[in-house]
Amino acid sequence: MLIQETMDQISRVDPEVGASIQEEFARQNRNIELIASENVVSEAVMLAMGTCLTNKYAEGYPGKRYYGGCYAVDVTEEIARQRACKLFGCNFANVQPHSGANANLAAFFALAQPGDTIMGMSLAHGGHLSHGSPVNISGKYFHIVSYGVKDDTETIDYDALLETAKTCRPKLIVAGASAYPRTLDFAKFRAVADEVGAYLMVDMAHIAGLVAAGAHPSPFPYADVVTTTTHKTLRGPRGGMILCNDEAMYKKINSAVFPGTQGGPLEHIIAAKAVCLGEALRPEFKAYGEQVVKNAHVLAQELIRQGFRLVSGGTDNHLCLVDTRNFHITGKELEHRLDEVHITVNKNAIPNDPEKPFVTSGIRVGTPAVTSRGFREEEMVQIAQWMGDVARDFEGCRERVTEEVHQLTGRFPLYT
Ligand SMILES: *Cc1c(COP(=O)(O)O)cnc(C)c1O
Repeated sequence: MLIQETMDQISRVDPEVGASIQEEFARQNRNIELIASENVVSEAVMLAMGTCLTNKYAEGYPGKRYYGGCYAVDVTEEIARQRACKLFGCNFANVQPHSGANANLAAFFALAQPGDTIMGMSLAHGGHLSHGSPVNISGKYFHIVSYGVKDDTETIDYDALLETAKTCRPKLIVAGASAYPRTLDFAKFRAVADEVGAYLMVDMAHIAGLVAAGAHPSPFPYADVVTTTTHKTLRGPRGGMILCNDEAMYKKINSAVFPGTQGGPLEHIIAAKAVCLGEALRPEFKAYGEQVVKNAHVLAQELIRQGFRLVSGGTDNHLCLVDTRNFHITGKELEHRLDEVHITVNKNAIPNDPEKPFVTSGIRVGTPAVTSRGFREEEMVQIAQWMGDVARDFEGCRERVTEEVHQLTGRFPLYT
């Protein structure tokens, strides 16, 4: 196995770092990964990241670089741009953002001035830090007005969003979330943006792979700008992208990425993005995206059968937000217990959570990584059963569940 040989070579040269990498590989193989923002990349994506492209400086864009010797990386970056446009059905793509947060920063830089009003989904209701949290640069440089979900349905309150937007007259409305289990209605966001004369930016970081697979509606033609990560459901290297349809907008975005907020692009990561986008254009990826959603649906049903309450009552996408209070435990406690039996999740605030953000009354679980590994409906039923057991009677089941988890993961190696 090439992945193993690569790690072995690192271990020979640097045993200390090698050992830590090998330990992480062992953990990923042994554990069930339910963190909704994580995934498992293909061998080709992994290998592209470890290439000589990391040696190259290429400030600027293909054909317009500030360094010599860029003719080869120009080809790589152009392939990535063209595949991104083809996959998402748009005219322009900037594939240089180092991360999702960097993509958002650059998009804000392109669309707004410091002090302008930006509306984003509240972090407490499932939004992302980079959409205006006071501890993030977005919250420090812009005037942020948040929107959220309805108390009863726990789905986005589009009427309240419109009313608030009419009052605060935002320059920009950001649609997109990190812990929202329902379909985003981009047409409704567009209608609000049009009514108040705001730009609409969609941050599809979590759902990009589902959009690519046709398992979630596309933000185009509704959004002025679309930002995303490439490492979540899209199953690529850690990184970001910005997409749009308008040429003048594209020019602003390009300047906002470089020289606005970044220096030299990571061409080895861009090569891996290109490989990932190539994979996402193949029919197998459509089947993958559909299976991610099917698995999440079964996991949701089975968790309800185990006695958990799900925020909004279920899921339309790749994740569930699980309320842990029926079992009189916190999100922190359930995360800890599941860690002990080698099932990895993250604690997550639920809407109107009475607990502090570091404790919470919920956990977030997602199916992208386990689906990449080959798990299907049958394995989802089993995982929900283990989660119920661990919530009900941890001490009574921990040894048995740990053993059973290892048996299951042993049958599904990450790389062969
Ligand atoms: C994950 C995420 C990001 C940030 O991505 P990073 O690569 O971690 O910076 C931004 N927006 C949303 C909605 C996300 O879920």
